[in-house]
Amino acid sequence: MNIEQILPLITRPGRYIGREYNVLPQKRDHSVVDWALVFPDLYEIGMSHQGLQILYHILNDEPGITAERCFCPDRNTETLLRQKDIPLFALESGRPLSSFDLIGITLPHELCYTNILTILNLSGIPFLARDRKESDPLVIGGGTCAFNPEPVADFFDAILIGDGETGIVDISRTINTAKEQKKNRKGKRDLLATIDGMYIPSHFTPHYLESGAVSRIDYSGTKEPKVRRQVLPDLARLDHLKKPIVPNARIVHDRLGIEIARGCTRGCRFCQAGITYRPVRERTVDQIMELAETGIKSSGFDELALLSLSTGDYSCLSGLLPKLMNRYADQYVSVALPSMRVGTLTEELMDEIKRVRKTGFTLAPEAGSERLRQVINKGITEEDLLQTAASAFALGWNLIKLYFMIGLPTETEEDIDSIIELAKKTAAAGSVSGKGRNRVNVSIGTFVPKPHTPFQWERQITIEESRKWINRLKARLPRGGFKLKWHDPEQSYLEGVFARGDRRLSALIISSWLSGARLDSWSDSFNLACWQESAASINIDLDFYLRQRDEQEILPWHHIDSLVEQEYLLAERNKSRAGIYTPDCRYKGCQKCGLCDFKTIRPVVHTKDTPKETKPMAASRKQPRKLPEERFTYLVEYSRTGLISYLGHLEFLQIIFRALRRAEIKTHFSKGFNPSPKVSFGPALPVGTESLCEFFLMELPSPLAENISWADRLSRVLPEGIKVLSISPWHRKIPQNIAITYRLTARSKLSTDEKQSIDTFLGATHFSVTRTRKGKSREINIRPLVSSVHLLNDTQLEIVLISRSGEPGIKPADAFHLITGREQNPQQQLAVIKLNWTMI
Ligand code: SF4
Repeated sequence: MNIEQILPLITRPGRYIGREYNVLPQKRDHSVVDWALVFPDLYEIGMSHQGLQILYHILNDEPGITAERCFCPDRNTETLLRQKDIPLFALESGRPLSSFDLIGITLPHELCYTNILTILNLSGIPFLARDRKESDPLVIGGGTCAFNPEPVADFFDAILIGDGETGIVDISRTINTAKEQKKNRKGKRDLLATIDGMYIPSHFTPHYLESGAVSRIDYSGTKEPKVRRQVLPDLARLDHLKKPIVPNARIVHDRLGIEIARGCTRGCRFCQAGITYRPVRERTVDQIMELAETGIKSSGFDELALLSLSTGDYSCLSGLLPKLMNRYADQYVSVALPSMRVGTLTEELMDEIKRVRKTGFTLAPEAGSERLRQVINKGITEEDLLQTAASAFALGWNLIKLYFMIGLPTETEEDIDSIIELAKKTAAAGSVSGKGRNRVNVSIGTFVPKPHTPFQWERQITIEESRKWINRLKARLPRGGFKLKWHDPEQSYLEGVFARGDRRLSALIISSWLSGARLDSWSDSFNLACWQESAASINIDLDFYLRQRDEQEILPWHHIDSLVEQEYLLAERNKSRAGIYTPDCRYKGCQKCGLCDFKTIRPVVHTKDTPKETKPMAASRKQPRKLPEERFTYLVEYSRTGLISYLGHLEFLQIIFRALRRAEIKTHFSKGFNPSPKVSFGPALPVGTESLCEFFLMELPSPLAENISWADRLSRVLPEGIKVLSISPWHRKIPQNIAITYRLTARSKLSTDEKQSIDTFLGATHFSVTRTRKGKSREINIRPLVSSVHLLNDTQLEIVLISRSGEPGIKPADAFHLITGREQNPQQQLAVIKLNWTMI
């Protein structure tokens, strides 16, 4: 039994079929070391994560090393895998995870911890590193949550702290050496410990006081008792994302991401990333342009996101953005700046952003009052915020999203009320611009104190306190034009437990998993009661982890060194109480956090490197929304066979649009807020149905050159399973009414009665069935929708169905079951292939 047999039973099969464009072919040479890179969340989250793809390409670029991907299955698929006894597998080869040398698991957030257990369990690998056999893979962790790895430390053989790009190759080479030397698991772990930034949990043993706090952490290794974070000195060495994997299934951030800078030294006192990704390391504009060029060309994405902790702080942004827009606006590629900071968004930048599509507009004041913003060192004033909002409204945005935290240190009722006042003033800034009715969405999250920050000692507010503030905001925020959204305080509570948790929590994760906890970051799956009951059953006090910590206390992450000094964090904490501002070391000189040695590690900033590029004058600039006069329509016929047929219709549309861009076939675009290619598709195929005769019509501004085989060219840039059969000029209307022939193969022979039912159906003029949609039932006569049925043998038949635009149709499998009277059985799905179609 393998995944193909359960695909018909899976809700979103596209997550599990792999075969994406730019997936690297399996190496022919026998790889010495192979990795399964695992993202412990669903495909749509994991594939949106840059880090995973960067590591995937780095490893596969190395001779003798292979890397494949795997994501956490949803609950339904987990159940099916268990029922059918199918081990969890890597997407590229379908190999079980247990057959790899190394399983690399990213730790992106605290609520993914039960997913790690799901992955290990479905792979037949024991949860605890100490229980694993010699033949089990080594399980290596890394990523954001590695800075306090303690709650999951027992599940890992080793955890890499800091930038993974250099360490991951070192790990592979070390394992290669260990294999040559025939080392056992312990020997491999000891060798891994020699790599900078490698944390071997079994080398550290925490002890606890009666109060529950850590009393000491014993070290049994041979290096230093502190694990120092790895720092990649310069992003210029990192150019591995020239050919990003293009997902077939819909994902959360479905676009080309380019990391333009790593690190942010604005110094927000609540922000862990601001400490653990220091210092700022910018790419040059030329490198970004090169990555954009190769990335868009090789992927076909229509959106490019400039990624950084604070994109607006990229020192060459005013030079970069016009350059990008001048290059891509006429190709309808929009540029998104997902993490802009108030005060860095100039009107000039906003004007550039909206040239193709107006991407979302989110501002994060974090706190409502000026006083509290000083406490957290946000460094933005109300005036900055309102000025940015007024400009955005004036430039055509009519929705601004504001993000705030509740529960910040020193917070009072007045600070909460200031959120309302600021939201109202923001909306009013729009009316000053004179541009109609504007909307403001207010998003609220509960502050979770994070390790290695100046606020790591603070208390986290309770669920009840969070609810009290949210209810106050709900009651006081005006109705019209405002919307309040909030992150579930119960999820923030659990996040807080793990963020500053210790090693004893691994027992809680196991216990909750055994009680059914899964996919805890998904609100429809999260169940706090399950965690609370498990905690009670093993005598763990969850509230203990949210308390204020004493500054002298040994914190559970004491042995993990972020390279930022403790004295600096304490000084920042003291400054927060006095409302003293700490400037950004990028602009105002080193603030002595202790990280840089100014030899290999130092801020890398390219200020003023880029000559300013202006927008082309309106007359000469290509206007993306203006349709040229001429239109040339082509019919593209193609087949889709194999696993790719498990994608949905919308997923197929996206694949075709991107392939057209990759093949450099320029279409006309629709007008409006979100321009899309002028391509018309035939009737949607049911998921799982193969086809030898799909088609779409595309409208081009100029004819295709005759000396190029366009069908081959387009086929070459499509994922495995899709083949273009022909591309030819089309001078007729879009086919509206067509007859489609399908071949159906049943899993068991047709009985005499079923054959008789087919004859009866064909002899009738009327065959009424009840169809229920959105709770409403109606009778329809399906007889005119079935032109013919021919039995080919005892299990196969060909059926011709009529499809008329705008009228109800029938799916081939539904027709089969209605005509033969055979019950629908998800376990006994028909194999359906579309053979041909003709206009009627
Ligand atoms: S050592 Fe100085 S320059 Fe380096 S990140 Fe810290 S404050 Fe900035």
